[in-house]
Formats: sequence, structure tokens, C-alpha cells
Amino acid sequence: MKWSWRIARVAGIDVYLHATFLILLAWVGLSHYLARHSLGDAADGLLFISTLFGIVVLHELGHALAARRYGIRTRDITLLPIGGVARLERMPEDPRQELVVALAGPAVNVVLAILLLALLVPAAALRNFGDVQLVGGHFLSKLVWVNVALVVFNLIPAFPMDGGRVLRALLAMRMEYVRATEIAARIGQGLALVFGAVGLFWNPFLIFIALFVWMGAAGEAGMVQMKSALGGIPIRQVMITDYQTLSPQDPVSRAVEHIMAGFQQDFPVIAGGQVIGILTRADLMAELAQRGLSAPVEEVMQREFQTADPAEMAETVFARLQQCNCHSLPVVQAGQLVGILTAENVGEFLMIQSALSKTIQPKTATAGTPPPVWPR
Ligand code: ZN
Repeated sequence: MKWSWRIARVAGIDVYLHATFLILLAWVGLSHYLARHSLGDAADGLLFISTLFGIVVLHELGHALAARRYGIRTRDITLLPIGGVARLERMPEDPRQELVVALAGPAVNVVLAILLLALLVPAAALRNFGDVQLVGGHFLSKLVWVNVALVVFNLIPAFPMDGGRVLRALLAMRMEYVRATEIAARIGQGLALVFGAVGLFWNPFLIFIALFVWMGAAGEAGMVQMKSALGGIPIRQVMITDYQTLSPQDPVSRAVEHIMAGFQQDFPVIAGGQVIGILTRADLMAELAQRGLSAPVEEVMQREFQTADPAEMAETVFARLQQCNCHSLPVVQAGQLVGILTAENVGEFLMIQSALSKTIQPKTATAGTPPPVWPR
């Protein structure tokens, strides 16, 4: 994630701090200092908020280490003002494994709460929930309630909360994965409506959570539908096969002509039958003002680029396309350019798939029966 700094490495996983988190820290420190002009208050507030996010890291590590048991690595954990995000390489598709991974985070908070209670209850030092404030109050007591709140909040059965994944996993043990996701997403959106309505009258913060949940549910359902529609389909069925190329000595004016005449934005540059570069529309526009129309393509093109193989699965290549921050990927077989893949044409493919699945029979995306593909 951009604007993040690495602050630690735990169990081989990098922990990042997002820049906006510093704004939260600054706000907590400053507002408490200004209230009573007390540095002690500011330090107290900062200590509490830092501990709270330390607990959030432990929660995320719970997910990460449970996923590791199933051979799934975690790219990193990032701390944002709204909480922590562990970027797992993928979610386990076996519902039982997903259930374990989803529950592992809240389980960490349950254990922490029990440990703290074991310390506090015998000494009769536990205060009630109402005493929880950023500054002041009994520190360990506050941490008990932080852990309880994290368990309750995360187990709300709605994406992107852990509870949404728990619900999906439980449903997926009884039905197909895509269907389970759809139902879990609907329940999440229903809850979002309730939060939103209650929030209007009671606590505006709930409206914020409602939005978050609504978008999370829609995102998760969309992603799973996309993965299922792209599953088992090789790139050669999705790629563009009608495109223009350039040679390194062509003037960039040729690319301008192609851009004006068609929809293509990026042009593979071919020399001796091999792709040696890509001229992107963005680079072209940036360089046009300085170099003019007669500059040769080879001076403006990118020489480092990713490619795809026509036999690769659409799902993996699409993930790469989203990560590489590029608009298109040349599809290369034995050194020869055979097609181009863009996000738009994956989108078109999905649109056609969904139209076909409505007209031809309900789609059953099980391993044996690939979803319908329009003729090519
Ligand atoms: Zn979690």
C-alpha cells in the first residue's frame, strides 16, 4: 500500500503503518493536550491508542498464522486508522479452512480478554464498560473491554468483517461457494440497512459502519462472481486478437494515428518477430509535448513489461493486471505476440458471460462443467 512505512516484522510478516494512522495519533495526542494542557494526558491517550493497535496487530497475526497452517502466505499487515488489514495471498476455498482462518483473529482477542480477566477479577479491579475512555480509567480494565469490543464488532455477520466470512464458510459447507457468498452478502447488506437506520437516530458512527459493510458486501460478492466466471478459462479465450503493433523506428505519429482511428491505448513494439517494448498512451502523451510527432517509438516505449501466456488462466492473469499498475498485458507464445489483454476486455467477457448465463441455463460452475463461453 502506498504511503505506508514498515514498523516491524513479526513471524516473517512485515507490519506497515499507513500515513493516515499518524494523523489519528496526532489528533489523539493534541486533543488531549489541549483539553487540560497536560502532557500526561497526551501520553496517556497515545499509550492507550498504541496498545489498542498492538492488539489489532495480534488479531491480524491470528488470521495470518492460521492461514499459514494451510500453506497460505500473508503479504503484509497494514495498520489504518479504522483497524488492521492482513493481506493474505488468497482466501482458502475449503469452507472448513476459511472458518478456522476467520475465527483465528477474534480467538486471539478472546484469549487476551481471558488472560486479563484472570489478572483483574481476583483483585476485584475490573471496572465496567462505561469507564472506558482514551485518557484515564484503569488501563488493564480498558484493555479487557477493547478485546470484548473487537470480538463483538468482528463477529458481525457481514463482509468485510470476520463474521461475514464465518457465515459464508458455514453456508458453503451446505451449498455452492458462489451461492453461499451471495446469501452472506445479502445478509450483510440487510444488516447495513439496519445499522444505517439506527445510526440516523442514535449514533452517526453507525452510518459510517453501514457504508463500510455495504461496500464490503458488494465487493466480496462481485469478486467471487468474477472469479467463478473467469475460473478455468484460459487467456486465449478472453484476449484481444485484433490489434495494431508498431516497430521501434516508427515515428510516434503512427501511434497517434492508431489512437485516433481505434480504441487501442497501448501498442506492442515488435522487432524481429519479438515484443521488445510497449508504447502506452500515457507515456506517449507525456513525451509528445517535448519530442514532437517525429520521435522514434523506441525512445518513448517502456522496455520493461510483464507478459502473459495464452494458456494461463484468466483469473491469475487478471490479478496480475490489477497489481502491475499497467493498462494492458501482451500475450506472448514462444516469443511471438498472439494477443493483448486489457481490463476492459475482461470486463466485456464477464458481461457477455452473465448475459449468456441468463439466456442459456442457470450456470453451474462446478469443476466438471465449465461455464458457457461465447463462440470464438
Ligand atoms: Zn479479523
